[in-house]
Amino acid sequence: MGNLLEVEKLKVSFRSHGGEVQAVRGVSFHIEHGEVLAVVGESGCGKSVTAQAIMKLLPKRGCSIKEGSIVFEGNDLLKLSANKMKRLKGSQISMVFQDPMTSLNPTMKIGHQIAEGIIKHKGLDKRKAKGRALELLKMVGIPNPEARYDQYPHELSGGMRQRVLIAVALACDPKLLIADEPTTALDVTIQAQILDLMKDLQQKLGTSIMLITHDLGVVAEMAQKVIVMYAGIVVESGTAEDILEHPKHPYTLGLLNSLPNYETAEKERLIPIEGTPPDLYAPPAGCPFAARCNYAMEICVQEMPESFETENGHHSRCWLNDPRAPKVAEFAAAGR
Ligand code: SF4
Ligand code: MG
Repeated sequence: MGNLLEVEKLKVSFRSHGGEVQAVRGVSFHIEHGEVLAVVGESGCGKSVTAQAIMKLLPKRGCSIKEGSIVFEGNDLLKLSANKMKRLKGSQISMVFQDPMTSLNPTMKIGHQIAEGIIKHKGLDKRKAKGRALELLKMVGIPNPEARYDQYPHELSGGMRQRVLIAVALACDPKLLIADEPTTALDVTIQAQILDLMKDLQQKLGTSIMLITHDLGVVAEMAQKVIVMYAGIVVESGTAEDILEHPKHPYTLGLLNSLPNYETAEKERLIPIEGTPPDLYAPPAGCPFAARCNYAMEICVQEMPESFETENGHHSRCWLNDPRAPKVAEFAAAGR
């Protein structure tokens, strides 16, 4: 199946009194119909900014898209009028945020928050919209939807609120759901339940998902494809299996080593990645990971590595993947 979303060479900068922060520095990826793409990286790597650019949620002041295109079903969203974008956002692309308390309207009954979008974008009358909202509440696993319909967000637990938010996002049958750290604010058991729910709904409805996370366990659970971001660029991309089982970039390997084994939840062997990402006011000319990388070579600080295709569709932006580079045993041994 073809691509639903194509992001090409996206560059986003923020101006502040300190100068210009290059938050996203030439990011490209695509999402196919019915596919779950995970966008992985530490905070500040540009993953949320990329999502905000797609949703046109970037702050108006001080922020600019310097370059690139974001094409959704043939339309470049960057060239779309505000009105057309608004329609698209209600009916074709929707977003689930990290914190359901701040994303839901605290003064509005949850049922109405779901029904509102259905009335606006699907043109259903109030009664039909309520029926559909009740169906959605049931679908996202809210017990006793009739009673819950008239409750306010504060009357629900964090997990229930996240379920409501998912219902709001799915109300108009979007083709693309962007989920930015959807389970981070929840405790572990509830996290697992919400992920199960999302996976289940994704399979049932065939919705494409762009899933933003710093948690490779979530990736293993949900995604078919992965892009790993660091300092505003994509450093590695491939299938979930490529990334989790055969990482080719030292940063990805570092992420894997710093997390409990996602299959066995072993707590041993956790090695944090020392150091911090570079200052994006003045990004380094060479590899942005060089200052933290155990394998850095001379060329790494001099020249930005190109993106090497190591296998079919598996890309790594690291000089180690240059056929002339020395072989590093850790990568062969990384198979977990
Ligand atoms: Fe490390 Fe060099 Fe690869 Fe960057 S290009 S990740 S510094 S080996
Ligand atoms: Mg973020």
